[in-house]
Amino acid sequence: MDAVLVINADLGPLHRVTVQHAIRMLCRRVAEIHEAEPDRVIGVFPVPRVVRLVRYVVTRWRFSAGPAWSRAGVLRRDGHRCAYCGGPAGTVDHVLPRSRDGRNTWRNTTAACYGCNQRKGDRTPAEAGMPLRNEPVVPSWAALAGR
Ligand SMILES: [Zn+2]
Repeated sequence: MDAVLVINADLGPLHRVTVQHAIRMLCRRVAEIHEAEPDRVIGVFPVPRVVRLVRYVVTRWRFSAGPAWSRAGVLRRDGHRCAYCGGPAGTVDHVLPRSRDGRNTWRNTTAACYGCNQRKGDRTPAEAGMPLRNEPVVPSWAALAGR
């Protein structure tokens, strides 16, 4: 475990670097320690697990990694259509419910109308007998833009 995660100033993960590289970033003051190994030091620095860039960098990697998840993005991706009945959707449903550790990710969330969202409740689509009309996917940047 010598890789240190570098995160952007907005806390978005960027890439991993070696501990040595991370220490050099700390020395140059381009990054700050965000999370460190308890009780371990290299010179004057705690051994970093995560370093955060001091200034926000706009990066191309975001295009390959896909856009960050958002509720508005889920609704846009699904064209404001309910994944269960196809009607107009104003809510975001967690396929695996949040109460059962379902996360805010593109693949675990889908647009849903209020009625279907309520009816599904804390169940999976299979348990609720409510099959998804489309499998949720990670949208392209283009799919989120301009609609
Ligand atoms: Zn619905």
